[in-house]
Amino acid sequence: MTAPGPPIGILAELTHRCPLQCPYCSNPVELLKANRELSTETWIDILNQAADLGVLQVHLSGGEPTLRQDLEQLVSALSSRSVYTNLITAGINLSKARIQALKDAGLDHVQLSIQGATPEVTELIGKHKKGFAQKMQTAEHVRACGLPLTVNAPIHRHNIHQVADFIELALALDADRLEIANVQYYGWAYLNRAALLPALEDVERQVEIVEKARDRLKGILNFDFVTPDYYADYPKPCMGGWAKDAFVIVPDGTVLPCHAAQTISGLSFENAAETPLTEIWETSPTFEKYRGFDWMSETCKSCPRKELDHGGCRCQAFAVTGDAAETDPACILSPHHDKLRNVAVTASAEAPDDFSYRRL
Ligand code: SF4
Ligand code: SF4
Repeated sequence: MTAPGPPIGILAELTHRCPLQCPYCSNPVELLKANRELSTETWIDILNQAADLGVLQVHLSGGEPTLRQDLEQLVSALSSRSVYTNLITAGINLSKARIQALKDAGLDHVQLSIQGATPEVTELIGKHKKGFAQKMQTAEHVRACGLPLTVNAPIHRHNIHQVADFIELALALDADRLEIANVQYYGWAYLNRAALLPALEDVERQVEIVEKARDRLKGILNFDFVTPDYYADYPKPCMGGWAKDAFVIVPDGTVLPCHAAQTISGLSFENAAETPLTEIWETSPTFEKYRGFDWMSETCKSCPRKELDHGGCRCQAFAVTGDAAETDPACILSPHHDKLRNVAVTASAEAPDDFSYRRL
């Protein structure tokens, strides 16, 4: 096996603590408590190892990463190595002084998640009173500090009718980019799948709105559109391919090829506090398992799209078929494709809306 090229990016989940309780949170269902988090020194050592490895950008995420009081130190450590830093935040209790301090430490970009385009929907999803007003204020502070802003809107049945409002909101907040991200169904979202899946006609309306806005707002607002797998014909290139360009480090230092990889049973994971990051990236059996094309089923191996989508998502393949090496069922060529579509059609017709909110 030839050594892989250097990774481009890391998602550093600094903590699982969060003031919100979104029922689609990408954190695992078994959240890590604060006493499992790495120390400042260990994180700085790992981030320096990442820079040595050639990583160009680190997405500082959580939970809510600003709950780490040492965030400025981590940003500064990365900035001193010329690594681009992106803060992914829910924007609760974030003062202008804190944002300025992060900028002074070298922060390059802020990505603010907004759960609904109105206070009611934001509070229904995040379960935090006055969350919307605080987010609006955070966006204002970010722009006043001169930092670029991306608005991240995770989309599901309860806010898919607000896509046009999200676009207006992003413009009003002077955002550079709007990420319309249809929820991916693993972890908490898988648990809440029946209460979150939208109906096909709403998805189609959404696609039309985003495509028109993309044309209309060229040069004004950039769009990232993460389309919904359950109504797709082909899967997305999850993580740009397993262990190809990026990886994830969770609060206790465990290193994952993607944020949901722990949902695949039978895999074991190294910890960056114990094993050098280069060794994990280059030789981890779990990273090697689905890297490249050798592991693929015949359907994917012989398919001309394999370089585009790398066979889709291993976690979704495992969740739906029980075999992580299967073709992602979001693909029309998968024998399980209809199963995925039927789940969406049934759930959206029955429309249950009881959530299991994300909590420890
Ligand atoms: S998805 Fe919601 S609950 Fe999960 S980390 Fe983000 S803001 Fe917190
Ligand atoms: S068969 Fe595999 S490689 Fe081809 S489009 Fe489907 S998931 Fe992608």
